Amino acid sequence: MTVSTNQLKAFIQAASAAINEHEEEVTELDQAIGDGDHITNLQRGLSTLDGLADSLGELDWSAAFQKMGMSVMSTVGGASGSLYGTLFLAMAKAIKGKGMSLQNLAEAFGQGVEAMKHRGKSDVGEKTMLDVLVPVAHALKVAAEHAQALPEVLATLNRIAEAGCESTRDMLPTKGRASFLGERAKGCIDAGARTAQLMIAAITSVLDLAAL
Ligand code: ADP
Ligand code: MG
Repeated sequence: MTVSTNQLKAFIQAASAAINEHEEEVTELDQAIGDGDHITNLQRGLSTLDGLADSLGELDWSAAFQKMGMSVMSTVGGASGSLYGTLFLAMAKAIKGKGMSLQNLAEAFGQGVEAMKHRGKSDVGEKTMLDVLVPVAHALKVAAEHAQALPEVLATLNRIAEAGCESTRDMLPTKGRASFLGERAKGCIDAGARTAQLMIAAITSVLDLAAL
């Protein structure tokens, strides 16, 4: 995988575009079982990252993730700000002194998602973004172990992310604001799971083009 931190700008912009395109849908999902600010939190985070994007290209992967994590932590409110900030900071730690490869990405993303689980005191099955991110991290590890070809890996990740997002529909929320609704939150996809899936789709489509 020949990806450099110069490409972070393209990933950030693709993620922003996907989130903005689905603004109404995400707001509706979040208003149904959350407090409706999830989209604004993500947009604030992504626009902060976009502002940094040119400077990220001058850094190695660890320093770039570190900078992204610190900025997201300090500018984005809500659960998603601290969770995504935690993801980037843990990825920075895991990839320190290493280059980017499918193996190193799988390791760093896996550690990042583990750190999110600790931070949110949460795991799969609780109707959150983790229902997308945990299975994706696992699939990435399996793909790296089997040295799968990139297009195949990306297709698998997307399929897993979509299934993870859909799986939140019938779950009973036990974490975050949705948990106050109990049974009434059933039947609705979690907004954070949907935005995680949208960003994964956006980033993998950029990677796919880069790999061609
Ligand atoms: P807040 O819930 O503080 O308003 P956001 O609206 O930005 O924060 O994000 C809400 C999303 O965060 C939820 O849809 C859910 O996916 C995720 N979330 C909330 N609490 C947790 C938690 N403890 N662990 C993991 N994810 C969580
Ligand atoms: Mg919210």
